[in-house]
Amino acid sequence: MHHIAKLILASSLLFAPIANAQTPPAAFAPGVEASIAQVLPHMLAWRRDFHEHPELSYEEVRTARVVAAHLRALHLDEVRTGVAVTGVVGVLRGGRPGPVIALRADMDALPVTEEVDLPFASRVRGRYNGQDVGIMHACGHDTHVAVLMATASVLAERRAELAGTVIFVFQPSEEGAPPGGLGGARRMLAEHVFGDLHPEAIFGLHAWPQASGTVKIMSGPFMAGSDRLRISVIGRQTHGAQPHRGIDPIVISSQIINALQTIPSRQMDAVGSPVIVTIGSIHGGVRYNIIPDRVEMEGTIRYLNPETRDDLYARVRRTVDDIAASAGATAEVSIESNAIPVVNPPELTARARAALARMLGEGSVQGGAPGMVAEDFAFFQQAVPGVFFYYGVNPPGVSPTEAAPNHSPRFFVHEPALETALRAMLAVTLDRVGPAQP
Ligand SMILES: [Zn+2]
Ligand SMILES: [Zn+2]
Repeated sequence: MHHIAKLILASSLLFAPIANAQTPPAAFAPGVEASIAQVLPHMLAWRRDFHEHPELSYEEVRTARVVAAHLRALHLDEVRTGVAVTGVVGVLRGGRPGPVIALRADMDALPVTEEVDLPFASRVRGRYNGQDVGIMHACGHDTHVAVLMATASVLAERRAELAGTVIFVFQPSEEGAPPGGLGGARRMLAEHVFGDLHPEAIFGLHAWPQASGTVKIMSGPFMAGSDRLRISVIGRQTHGAQPHRGIDPIVISSQIINALQTIPSRQMDAVGSPVIVTIGSIHGGVRYNIIPDRVEMEGTIRYLNPETRDDLYARVRRTVDDIAASAGATAEVSIESNAIPVVNPPELTARARAALARMLGEGSVQGGAPGMVAEDFAFFQQAVPGVFFYYGVNPPGVSPTEAAPNHSPRFFVHEPALETALRAMLAVTLDRVGPAQP
């Protein structure tokens, strides 16, 4: 590419969406474009406000209040609050008959202390697991909420033309279920989030460190299933100099940790069934010359292929139980599902991808490989055919490998990317309930 062309392309990244020359983005109907232009500054202001006031899972009280007030001001047909503790649901009925579509945004922040130098950086602190922590929108959920509020604004202004119904789902607690409880998506579903409506499709998006102005969408497995693994190894306490008088759970645990790594590397299909087993904590013993009674370990299991799951669980249990038994110890294994894999159904995804390519430009729509991070949007996909995709948040010139990952204290969203996210949400929605595209 000629270097001038490169410069032009680089500077055009400032203004989402970008497109390649062959397939420029299409404009929405003039009325929609006018609504977009009008809502843009508000969307950025909402996002900054949420960013400055992050709230942990199931504590999204202020966020939910702002969202509910906004939806009521738009005179939606229905606004329900307190769905799954702090969740908010809005229903917009268009002026003409048509399908029901659901759009979802998650609202919670993380126990992370912000290190980004922004005028609206979070200085909020709170308590998490009994510890004093900083709180930060380190996963970009502040942008998801602002984008969906803006989507609601645009659609509410065009309601007479809409052929169908749109449900806006503002979900709490995506980042993890409380111990023994349900995460936000599962809890909203348990509390009949859609009421007596039956959406034919649900869409969600996520901020992701790739080029601003782009989206990433793919059919099939897209994000991993995520489980919490707990292992107790129960031996028998003895003197550190007389191991034969007891059963050493520490040596057994070390064998278990190593053997667990052979499940992904030796037992599963590396391409067809990618799997990760990570032990993230291990606790046992109080003194250098005492072999303790028991060791407790915790970790996470990730898998991309839903058909892999039961087999994987069985292999983890067998590995732990049999190694413990080989030494005369016993073991307890518990596996708790946080999220199942996000799997985008081919037909629905192809149609959404075409709508995104039309409205953002073909060059702005990426494919690529799935990842091993998780999202509880997957539970909505169990109930309703759904598509989940990423929108890029990197500033121009920052590559995906240089950018701080989600959950980092340096996670950063280049704000012009929010317009791409808004246009993407409108593209997939109006493709189904909108007036005919030009
Ligand atoms: Zn996250
Ligand atoms: Zn997230």
